[in-house]
Amino acid sequence: SFIWWQFIHITAGTSGYHRYWTHNSFKIGKWYEIYSQIIGLFGNPGPALVWIGVHRDHHKYADTEKDPHSPKHKGFWWVYTSGWFQAGFRYTPTEREDLKDWLSLSKNSSLKWFYDNYLKLHALIILIFFLIDPLLLVFGYCLPIVFSNQAYGLINAYCHRHGEPSNNLLIALITGGEGWHLNHHNDQRNYRFGKIDPGARFICLIK
Ligand SMILES: [Zn+2]
Ligand SMILES: [Zn+2]
Repeated sequence: SFIWWQFIHITAGTSGYHRYWTHNSFKIGKWYEIYSQIIGLFGNPGPALVWIGVHRDHHKYADTEKDPHSPKHKGFWWVYTSGWFQAGFRYTPTEREDLKDWLSLSKNSSLKWFYDNYLKLHALIILIFFLIDPLLLVFGYCLPIVFSNQAYGLINAYCHRHGEPSNNLLIALITGGEGWHLNHHNDQRNYRFGKIDPGARFICLIK
């Protein structure tokens, strides 16, 4: 389960949702847009369209009251657990201009399609996995989502615990390089976050 989750997170979560979709940090064919959104489903991060909106706000308003998940303003445990019971299904911008930018993103047909069908796709995965073997549902679907929630909790809460972004080697090792969070805040458009960075290695392989 953990290895499957690492695969999901490295090839679709950090490289796809985060570095490709949110920060446009590399160019790649249409196949990867579809791939990252299909494989991304298994970490249940919410639709990419919502993720992009929330994460761009996080960078723009980092550690202020408008930051969607600042431990300084919302509390460490709120941020750590906020993704556990509900993925980011809805984007609620604080500024009108952010909503405008976000609405223009939905012109991308694949982002819009995965947004519209997100819950149906999950229902389909649950049904297929259950019919193959209920254990597959537990180890192939439920556990990776648990790992995913812990990872995003650590990054969003721990790497911002002092009210500013910080780097953490251990978190980087288990989250495909996301733990180089200070480096990433300082250089958002760079798909390389740090020295030990499985996400950047994967991007080098495919682009
Ligand atoms: Zn980012
Ligand atoms: Zn951050």
